[in-house]
Amino acid sequence: MCPSYRATGEENASTRGRARMLQEMVRGEAVRDGWRSTEVKDALDLCLSCKACSSDCPVGVDMATYKAEFLHQHYKGRLRPRSHYSLGWLPRTSALAGYAARPINALLRGPVGKLLARLGGVTTKRRIPAFASRRALRKALRAAKTAEPAKAVLFVDSFTRAFRPEVAGAASRVLADAGIACAPRDGLCCGLTWVSTGQLNVARKIMARTVAALDGDDRPIIVAEPSCAAALKRDVPELLGTEAAQRVASRVQTFTGALTDLADQDWSPPPLPENVVLQTHCHEYATFKGRRPADLLRRLGVRGVDEAEGCCGLAGNFGFEAEHYETSMAVADLALKPRIDHLDGRTVVADGFSCATQIDHLADGRDIRALHLAELLDPAADQTGETS
Ligand code: SF4
Repeated sequence: MCPSYRATGEENASTRGRARMLQEMVRGEAVRDGWRSTEVKDALDLCLSCKACSSDCPVGVDMATYKAEFLHQHYKGRLRPRSHYSLGWLPRTSALAGYAARPINALLRGPVGKLLARLGGVTTKRRIPAFASRRALRKALRAAKTAEPAKAVLFVDSFTRAFRPEVAGAASRVLADAGIACAPRDGLCCGLTWVSTGQLNVARKIMARTVAALDGDDRPIIVAEPSCAAALKRDVPELLGTEAAQRVASRVQTFTGALTDLADQDWSPPPLPENVVLQTHCHEYATFKGRRPADLLRRLGVRGVDEAEGCCGLAGNFGFEAEHYETSMAVADLALKPRIDHLDGRTVVADGFSCATQIDHLADGRDIRALHLAELLDPAADQTGETS
């Protein structure tokens, strides 16, 4: 279950080992310095916050939530690791980068990019994903508008907005094709990157703003990025504890969930490939049980769905942090990398931006690109061809 344990084989990198350390911290006997404990911080360090334990552990330990709370308390009033600023605030910086995407991308591809990565505590072994321009976003949002009355809200999350706005366009076309016309909602954020870096005060402020903007409607909220869907579904009501947050969370659907529950009975997608390799985002796996991309793909006629079990290893900020690169790649070795190395022409599907980024890294220059399910099902594209 726990990817860091499976990758390292070390007890202190397991859910049980971490839970034991937290228990000791609460007891205050073996661990005496409470939230300031470096032993507990070290025990939590290799936790990818994948949430697998929250769904697969028989006693429901939710280590990702405990880690967020620990980091929040541990760094209260203190300087944080640099990656907490560079990656935790990514929704803000990436929104600004969209105004000058081309020169910024060109700059980041060169030595300046490596220098900035080092300064931000980010590994230089990965390529920094290219920012999409505001123009590309505007084009995608225009494409996402339909003439029909909207039955749902398409939440344009920070990752889709900043790095692959074309997914929002594809998602809206697929949903309209399936009888779920959507109104795109841009400019909001679920707060996930502040949660995973334990900046919970900021996360709460951002979440409260988002809840206020989305409440007062009863239409489903469909989120193309599964990690943002999971944050809206689970983290937002847990951290805000308000009825409005509960109301909003109850309307949240993943892209897969929307097609599973809301699509017209007679909807049929365009021709699909016979075989795909699928990486399900670990937060989607843990939070939206019973609404699995693999089940949907099979129902839609894909015969061979080869699913890479567990986390891709990138897990949001984790695999970008310089000190976690090796563990991130060791986790990828467990299930995803062997599939990418033996694709045999199969299409790769991954809805999570992290997963798609990890796949791009594993492709190592080969012509392999993971498609979001929306791109696979897009009536405006023919996906029967091979992607690699
Ligand atoms: S969140 Fe994931 S990595 Fe962390 S303890 Fe749970 S299963 Fe392990």
